[in-house]
Amino acid sequence: MKNIAVLGCTGSIGRQTLDIVRSNPDKYRITGLSCGSRVTELVGLSREFSCKNVGIYDSEKYADLKSLLPNANVFQGDDALTSVIDDADTVVIAVVGMIGLKAVLYALEKGKTVALANKESLVAGGSIVTEQLKRGGKLYPVDSEHSAVWQCLQGENDFSRIILTASGGPFYFTPQSQLCGVTPEQAVKHPNWSMGKKISVDSATMMNKGLEIIEARWLFNTTNIDYVIHPESIVHSMVEFRDGSIKAQAGFPDMRLPIQYALSYPEHADRNFTPLSLPLELRFFPPDENKFPAPKLAKQAIISGGNSAAVLNAANEAAVALFLQRKVSFTDIVQIVEDAISAEPHCELKTADDVFETHNRVYEKIYLKYRGQ
Ligand code: NDP
Ligand code: MG
Repeated sequence: MKNIAVLGCTGSIGRQTLDIVRSNPDKYRITGLSCGSRVTELVGLSREFSCKNVGIYDSEKYADLKSLLPNANVFQGDDALTSVIDDADTVVIAVVGMIGLKAVLYALEKGKTVALANKESLVAGGSIVTEQLKRGGKLYPVDSEHSAVWQCLQGENDFSRIILTASGGPFYFTPQSQLCGVTPEQAVKHPNWSMGKKISVDSATMMNKGLEIIEARWLFNTTNIDYVIHPESIVHSMVEFRDGSIKAQAGFPDMRLPIQYALSYPEHADRNFTPLSLPLELRFFPPDENKFPAPKLAKQAIISGGNSAAVLNAANEAAVALFLQRKVSFTDIVQIVEDAISAEPHCELKTADDVFETHNRVYEKIYLKYRGQ
């Protein structure tokens, strides 16, 4: 029996993780659950899974949570990302945003296995997470592309290149001149995946692929990473070897597959799944980085190193929040990120505190600048 904590349990990845646990009560037990502020959903899930440790980040909701779950250990604030996992072996980190870094570092410090959906933590704090991993804990990817790469690398000692796939999001075939009028409602409708708002907007701007390129850089210790547009989202990514052979991992686009693999690794466990009916028409296109420059910014951030990726991530989090509040336009998002990287003096980020300081400062500067518009 594996003891599992799910941070961000009320979100898209969190709920799909709990679906897997629900179908495998003999394999998995939930010992920790937390979310940002949605008390009612959290209480329902905690009761369903008889969860002992429950956390809510929003301290204003703590009293409500405590009164509704009198027999649970109830945590608030940062403890909802840290202490709530203490009884778990595996921690699924499915919170959104760089705040997930607190959870990743704490879980690794405690020697836990981290099943990581939260990509912003690796983008902003990849070097610090990598250092922490040398001291203990394990880190398994949940993001579908990185799970695909991980699966392709089983039994392999070496590779020459990672080729991530990208659906292209809802606007890949939309004329560039129409992009500035895209609304939040249009941007959050992804053609192949049902996801939280932030990652849906990231997919629409293709910043998601940029974040994933940086994520892959840390997970697989390479800078040799390309990407290709694959609108069907059936091939989840590929790995090229030194002899030119390419391995790809494919499957129906369903996040429960990579989530389950991170929980059942090294096994491919049983699961009710939608079989692919062959033959399929699979298309692969080269990216258009004039229309969608975000992945190019991410590749530059890898080359620049230091604080670049943390600044890119913070500026993107702020710009997406502003876009969802209709304070900036869709095409402003990536422009804001590019401007923030140019404005910020280059420096090294040596500690987690450096990463949080940079993130909060860059985020607030951008947020305050555009909030009143
Ligand atoms: P959602 O917006 O659907 O869910 C986010 C979850 O995080 C919610 O449970 C939310 O709680 C919780 N949360 C937010 N802030 C905090 C906090 N400070 N402390 C504790 N919990 C918090 O996001 P997704 O599930 O779509 O995405 C989660 C992460 O996984 C992101 O980093 C995303 O990039 C990544 N990812 C997602 C994929 C997907 O298919 N959805 C695919 C690959 C990666 P509340 O409900 O109370 O607000
Ligand atoms: Mg992905």
